[in-house]
Amino acid sequence: MKIRTRLTLLFTLITATILLVFAAVIYFTAKENREKEFYLLLKKEAITKANLFLNARVDKKNLQEIYHNNRRILNEVEVAIYDPYFHLLYHDAVDIDYVKETKQMINEINQKGEISFYQQDWQVIGLRYEFQGSYFIVTATAYDQYGYTKLDSLFKTIIIVFIISVLFIYIAGRFFSKKAFGPVKEMTEKAANISATNLDLRLMSNGSKDELSELANTFNEMLDRLENSFEAQKHFVSNISHELRTPLAAIIAELELSTHKDRTISEYKNVVTNTLADAKKLARLSNSLLDLAKASYDPSEISFKPVRIDEILLDARSQAQQANPDYKIDIHFESDFENDDQISVNGNEYLLKVAFVNLFENGCKFSDNKQSTVSFSYGDGKILLRFADKGIGISKEDIKNIFTPFYRGENKKYADGNGIGLSLTQKIITLHKGEINVISSAEKGTVFTVELHQITYHNKNKA
Ligand code: ADP
Repeated sequence: MKIRTRLTLLFTLITATILLVFAAVIYFTAKENREKEFYLLLKKEAITKANLFLNARVDKKNLQEIYHNNRRILNEVEVAIYDPYFHLLYHDAVDIDYVKETKQMINEINQKGEISFYQQDWQVIGLRYEFQGSYFIVTATAYDQYGYTKLDSLFKTIIIVFIISVLFIYIAGRFFSKKAFGPVKEMTEKAANISATNLDLRLMSNGSKDELSELANTFNEMLDRLENSFEAQKHFVSNISHELRTPLAAIIAELELSTHKDRTISEYKNVVTNTLADAKKLARLSNSLLDLAKASYDPSEISFKPVRIDEILLDARSQAQQANPDYKIDIHFESDFENDDQISVNGNEYLLKVAFVNLFENGCKFSDNKQSTVSFSYGDGKILLRFADKGIGISKEDIKNIFTPFYRGENKKYADGNGIGLSLTQKIITLHKGEINVISSAEKGTVFTVELHQITYHNKNKA
């Protein structure tokens, strides 16, 4: 069952129950009031007749005549007067006589002073009446035709009003729930049309602060994130294929050209050198991609253990210098350390080395003097590394994008690369819950600062 129908039914049921209770209270109160009022009327009539008979000494016959005459038009009250010894003194109509008084009844009235009861639908009241020091027993009875008719019509009105109200509430409930759930239906239809090919579609939000707008906004924000990551993915793939195609096309062209006719040894050597350079480029790219994939793993899948940053820096330096013997890399320890913990982090040795090699290589390759210096310090639970060079620097426009995969700055002509290094480095540092920042000024040089948490910080946090 749809929520809309369920809500309408629930709403109708609750309102119908309230209405029913309300109607029942009205009906039973009216019923009780009718009974009370009619007993009062009977009492009044009994006293009046007793007065007429005993006090005003109106003739029995006259009283009986009045009763018979009134009976034709009104629900006349039938009154009987007894003395306490069950001697009938007066009776409105012995021939009709609805209430068959008994000696026991007369005794009870005499004892209690007043009793009232029903004889079928007829209400009866019996009371002790004092006149000139003597007691008399008066009974009065009548059928409350008027009261019952009123009650009956009240009952019918209540039933009709109840049915109409419930119908109206149901229709109104359906109408309003349709209106309330209209936007949900619209959203469902719109959301059903959104797929990978049209991720730019968005749900309509009416701009108010209600729950549905919040839902639409949250959904739209999720779509924004999805669209961005889809776009990033698309770019990533097209960038990779571009990066792969360029050196591959160069290798193919070189090799094809060399097969067209016989070449001299030095020409062949030239072809081999060029293709080797392109093949190395491809190898570097595939290594970087592999490292990027590793750094993008779920952190729980990467093994972290205590590692000494100074040792990783030394390893990174020898790796960078092995690949590029002309690079000059200085490691400068700014503060002495007393124990290993001060210069250790909880990290992945391989990935940290990849990050440091990238920073060393960038510093060297974008500098005329091919020199990069890293200064190492620690304090406040942190290890601070400053990778500085005196190279060509990065322009203000480029600095915003250098951490984007495959982005290469306008200074890319200066050195070879594929634009993956810094995005990979940033991923690795973030994976270690660290931070990487850059300050650069054109022609003066660049400084990358890397902040990592000392091992003691992790131990403290674990505890
Ligand atoms: P790549 O070095 O392969 O081009 P990176 O991701 O390592 O790619 O760097 C992205 C861009 O950032 C580089 O193309 C370059 O423009 C700029 N860059 C990075 N490090 C430096 C640096 N030390 N000096 C000048 N420019 C740099």
